[in-house]
Amino acid sequence: MGRFTLPRDLYHGKGSLEELKHLTGTKAVLVVGGGSMKRFGFLDKAKSYLEQAGMEVRIIDGVEPDPSVETVMKGAQVMREFGPDWIVAMGGGSPIDAAKAMWAFYEYPDCTFEQLITPFSFPTLRTKAHFCAIPSTSGTATEVTAFSVITDYHKGIKYPLADFNITPDVAIVDAELAETMPAKLTAHTGMDAMTHAIEAYVSTLHCDYTDPLALHAIKMIHRDLKKSYDGDMEARDRMHNAQCLAGMAFSNALLGIVHSMAHKTGAAFSGGHIIHGAANAMYLPKVIQYNAKVPAAAERYADIARFLGLKGATTEELVAALVAELREMNRQLNIPLSIQNYGAGGVIAETSIIDEKEFLDKLPEVAANAIGDACTGSNPRQPSQEDMEKLLLAVYYDKDVAF
Ligand code: FE
Repeated sequence: MGRFTLPRDLYHGKGSLEELKHLTGTKAVLVVGGGSMKRFGFLDKAKSYLEQAGMEVRIIDGVEPDPSVETVMKGAQVMREFGPDWIVAMGGGSPIDAAKAMWAFYEYPDCTFEQLITPFSFPTLRTKAHFCAIPSTSGTATEVTAFSVITDYHKGIKYPLADFNITPDVAIVDAELAETMPAKLTAHTGMDAMTHAIEAYVSTLHCDYTDPLALHAIKMIHRDLKKSYDGDMEARDRMHNAQCLAGMAFSNALLGIVHSMAHKTGAAFSGGHIIHGAANAMYLPKVIQYNAKVPAAAERYADIARFLGLKGATTEELVAALVAELREMNRQLNIPLSIQNYGAGGVIAETSIIDEKEFLDKLPEVAANAIGDACTGSNPRQPSQEDMEKLLLAVYYDKDVAF
């Protein structure tokens, strides 16, 4: 048996934020991040639309990037005092992810964080509130997914929470919000979305319902990401839809070891974070070479290459063409091809912020963590410790993967 779960309603297109006017309820909390939504006027607009819907509105702001367990618990407390029947989360991935977790603790005050980290073990939500998500970046697609990432800073661990209970009820994909993204964020989030779509297409859990979403997202991102990065706002608008389609695919097909590696290398080194989207962009071509040793996976990468109009007479040539094309996209977006050229903020640099010796010292531990990541299970090839160490070396030194 398969399951395919999406929000009940999805409003899209510029100005669709106004749909908030038509939510039915008495009280809404509006969860936002550090201030960009306020600065660009979207917070005021959203609040006013909710008030026009006849709701009393309480704002929870200041959700930090990579939201903490404490932020989640504080927000849940505000919700318990206020008693909303709608939770509306707006912004990049972080406020929406945090609000998803707050929702669980609002409805189940006695639930512990430990209970939620077991995948697909959430209590039944929607006994008190429904959830509406409004993304302002074009990448995580958390507005349509069953996932949320919360960081326990005491333990230094990022916990991916996964359960179809936290798939939002309503998603509002309004491209006006995404038009405020700076170029670098556009590049990183866009390649994150590309990775979502490609990993979903080759995932062992892919199905007839996820394949078309993944393929169309890949085609759109390939066509529009560079233009969007260069400031073409029509392309930017299309990217907002494309990342959402990728999200619908991966929420149901899950991901693979590009994400496992990105999750576990992200905060592992003292030189600085490896930004999620940039990590995915660097690792994806290497993982394609690795996974393509499995014939069924190679065929699916070849499907993608053909769908993009890339040239190749054999499966092998088509896979190589896809790898080359993704590397070219990175170059055009000023994203490094390997960690040895990873500069601060995720741009190409002569000297990496990730120290070579520290990387080599931590290699066995990081490799073991990546293998244990929740995304590894649906990858088309299961890596051994030796494989994962070799893959990590390949992404550090930009070596072709031929094992
Ligand atoms: Fe991602």
